[in-house]
Amino acid sequence: MKSWFDGVGHSYRTPIRIRIFGVIPAKPFILTKIIATLGPASCEIPVLTRLIESGVRVFRLNFSHGDPESHLQLLTAARQASEEVGIPVGVLGDLCGPKIRVGKVIEGGVELQMGQPVYFQRDPILTGEDPDAPVTFNVTYDKLIDEVEPGQRLMINDGNIHVLVMDKSEDRLIGTVTTPGTVTSAKGVNLPETALTVPSVTAYDWKCADWAMEHGVDFLALSFVRKAEDVIKLRQYMKRKLKGRLPLPIIAKIEKPQAIDDLENIVDAADSIMVARGDLGVEMDLASVPIIQKKIINMAHDYGKPVIVATQMLESMIEFPTPTRAEASDVANAIFDGTDCVMLSGETAVGKHATKAVDHMSRIALKVQEHIVGEKVRWGKPPAKLQADRSRMAALAHGVMTIVRDMNVKHIVVWSQNGGAARHLSKNRPTLPILAFSSDHQSLRRMTPLFGVKPMYLEQPADTEDFIWQVDQLMQESKMCKVGDALLVVAGEPIGKPGSTSNIHIHYVGDYFGESG
Ligand code: PGA
Ligand code: MN
Repeated sequence: MKSWFDGVGHSYRTPIRIRIFGVIPAKPFILTKIIATLGPASCEIPVLTRLIESGVRVFRLNFSHGDPESHLQLLTAARQASEEVGIPVGVLGDLCGPKIRVGKVIEGGVELQMGQPVYFQRDPILTGEDPDAPVTFNVTYDKLIDEVEPGQRLMINDGNIHVLVMDKSEDRLIGTVTTPGTVTSAKGVNLPETALTVPSVTAYDWKCADWAMEHGVDFLALSFVRKAEDVIKLRQYMKRKLKGRLPLPIIAKIEKPQAIDDLENIVDAADSIMVARGDLGVEMDLASVPIIQKKIINMAHDYGKPVIVATQMLESMIEFPTPTRAEASDVANAIFDGTDCVMLSGETAVGKHATKAVDHMSRIALKVQEHIVGEKVRWGKPPAKLQADRSRMAALAHGVMTIVRDMNVKHIVVWSQNGGAARHLSKNRPTLPILAFSSDHQSLRRMTPLFGVKPMYLEQPADTEDFIWQVDQLMQESKMCKVGDALLVVAGEPIGKPGSTSNIHIHYVGDYFGESG
């Protein structure tokens, strides 16, 4: 029987290793990881293979759109494309969390004018149906009318339209439009000034989490996290459901002011963090978003947690084939800030130039990388909290960085059965690739968001010597190295046993069993 984490339609009939043999890598390895959101513009396998070839290493399935059937189609297509290209690609399921939306609005939407009165009622309504009645909305959150107070603002459609609440009665809110615009069906509603009691994980989220576990999705992101307990609750739920098997790593999306107040605990509790700038820029003062981005990245780095910068990175490319100069700078600066991943949303989900967007992102990431390597820019410090733990792997990873700085190493090579060693090495921000080997496909997919890590499949070697020998062959046959190149190999005995990683070997390609050199 297939175990749950094998995923749908994902069997890797031919080990990836075979395909690496003899292939000359056409492109330089991109240290920064690119996440692409799937959607109507990216649902066909040929498009997905192109996206992977252009640099995508994680696909995002957004549970805010579609149904189980369309999610399954996208997941299956993502798995097949990954298999075709022969590169491990992770799939991230993005739970909507307590996102509030307006209900149904007539075709074409309703235009809200400056100063116009607007009502919000409890009962469902098709907004705009009666042109003579005042504009009245219903939203997806039952307690809206109880919890919003006069003087607070409702922001609709990514914060583009503002309604100031003037008064309320038993069953409706009465507001005035202070920033006009057109509202269409299911547009998001943000209430940055209201303390909502909406649960952090909704009934729909639990269903999506079940679906993700059943279908072998690799990560779960949780939207609108407010406190560390939100993350802990989701993890405990998965643990109960999975009965002892490892829960999916959780990415906490930071997009609420309350999350900024509890940032350190959230970073500690989550496996990964997303700077969700779309909603963050609505919920908080837009002017503080760049600073918050840096703060979140630094905090994540201290805790050794991978971090994603998301939303509007190449927004103009939804329409146009080239990004704006400001967007190019934004992608570059997120990398300078120390992000692991940069994410595309509408650009790849519904954009007219999905593959071009990834091409541009890759090119920008490569330029930054060349600069960092060329200028020998030193990247920050080792992760402070991990270092403080005085764990063996944290110390070892720090030591690896010293060796890398002191000698000319071509690649860092690690046997990382479950991905822990790869994460530690990645968090020290080396400016050369970390070739992370495992015999476990799930582990390889879970390494995909790690900065600088190239996950590679290999059947478990007998011991470290066998591992080095196999890697040596692979490096020569794939032309990833030439004879004499130095590899820094990190492994442990017995190889593959979690927590056993404790050795550093400096290996010169071609120099094994003392036959040469
Ligand atoms: P979303 O999250 O695309 O699911 O809203 C990202 C963001 O808010 O930036
Ligand atoms: Mn969001």
